[in-house]
Amino acid sequence: MRNYHIWTIGCQMNQAESERLSALLDAWGLRPTNIPAEADIILLNSCVVRQSAQDRVVGKLISLKELKPKRPEALLAVTGCLVDSNTSQLHQRFPQVDFFFKPGDFDQFQAWARKHNLANGVKEIPLPSGPTCFVPIIQGCDNFCSYCIVPYRRGRQHSRPLSDILQEVSQLAAAGTKEVTLLGQNVNAYGQDLLPPTDLAELLTELNRIEGLKRIRFLTNHPRDMSPRIISAVAELDKVCEHLNLPIQAGDDDILAAMRRGYSAAEYRCLVSAIRQAIPGVSLSTDIIVGFPGESQEQFQRSYDLLQELRFDTVHVAVYSPRPGTLAARKLKDNIPSFMKKPRQQLIEKLQEHIAHEINAALVGKTVEILVEDHSRGRWYGRTRTNKLVFFEDVGQWQGLLAQVKIEKSGPWWLLGKLEANPENPQ
Ligand code: SAM
Ligand code: SF4
Repeated sequence: MRNYHIWTIGCQMNQAESERLSALLDAWGLRPTNIPAEADIILLNSCVVRQSAQDRVVGKLISLKELKPKRPEALLAVTGCLVDSNTSQLHQRFPQVDFFFKPGDFDQFQAWARKHNLANGVKEIPLPSGPTCFVPIIQGCDNFCSYCIVPYRRGRQHSRPLSDILQEVSQLAAAGTKEVTLLGQNVNAYGQDLLPPTDLAELLTELNRIEGLKRIRFLTNHPRDMSPRIISAVAELDKVCEHLNLPIQAGDDDILAAMRRGYSAAEYRCLVSAIRQAIPGVSLSTDIIVGFPGESQEQFQRSYDLLQELRFDTVHVAVYSPRPGTLAARKLKDNIPSFMKKPRQQLIEKLQEHIAHEINAALVGKTVEILVEDHSRGRWYGRTRTNKLVFFEDVGQWQGLLAQVKIEKSGPWWLLGKLEANPENPQ
């Protein structure tokens, strides 16, 4: 029997695509291995959104180059955002790689795999399984934020037909999946490119009717595409969770303009306030970049102050990293040195730790509903509708069930509780 090894970094879209590639290789009769040296095919799913991610990918490729002379028959394929249209240049730079294919281009991968006798007759990619599943609904992005490489690597916005997604989620629910997370780089622009056009609100409404499905989430979003229709859908549809990802990226208007985000800090504030009014108890996560070209101390302070004012549940803070080919890398000098960027990142991380601690501490003594995903080191864990990670101890079998848990302890990134009397309690 032949083995495969998949190595993935980056966003949930990469994770989802790796899950599907893994399911396909399983269906072809290959066996997963954690040890690259034992694999007959190694698949590397790459991310180059920041230089640090790219460095890890290149490091991995160098280590795999050393493996090649020992196992010349083993195949190495690379996908993800490292792969641009100039694959001959990539082959020159990384001669150890047998095949590069664009993110999500499973047809290209299958054709190559067939040539190398990896594939059997199975052509349809088997669906993932488990209580929670990722479902990609839109590829690419048309926004071209000045710092971002995604539109250059994943291409223009391309939505999957609504009927395909409905069919897939119905199949997942029939097989026992309770929660789906709809994925895309700009998921709230879903449907704008379809003929006739549709939107995410319509898709959510249709998905909400699927029997057996309990929860629906979606990410990542662009604030400009968060329409009142989508906000109402989240507020009104019982299965759509009260958790929204709304990347702000900066709190200063000149920086936002240089980033080409298409909104001001005041417009973003209004959006948050409309969302909080329409969806009581909503939890919000955001992304922010520090050290964008020219970011002064005052401009950084505006980002900091806005985060302090809006009090997000989660903040992902990234240090600006110039990406080749993007507008910012071509036109703006990366003039904030690392010794200034890093402390800015740490200040925001510290602020957020404090805010998240306070938000989570307010849940102590309350009972929350979690969808149990799995167990680890003697504890079951799952997430609330608001995406809080909760642990509890119990000897029963809880995977895939909804549990009521009374929170006893909290930290900034987790909650710990005790099982309450549960309608779904198997005992
Ligand atoms: N589409 C979402 C949006 O509009 O904000 C986010 C998707 S983006 C691929 C994921 C995150 O990576 C961004 O929110 C941003 O914070 C970060 N990112 C993208 N390009 C970056 C860069 N050049 N330097 C630092 N962080 C970057
Ligand atoms: Fe990148 Fe998101 Fe901007 Fe698209 S909307 S270019 S994915 S940051």
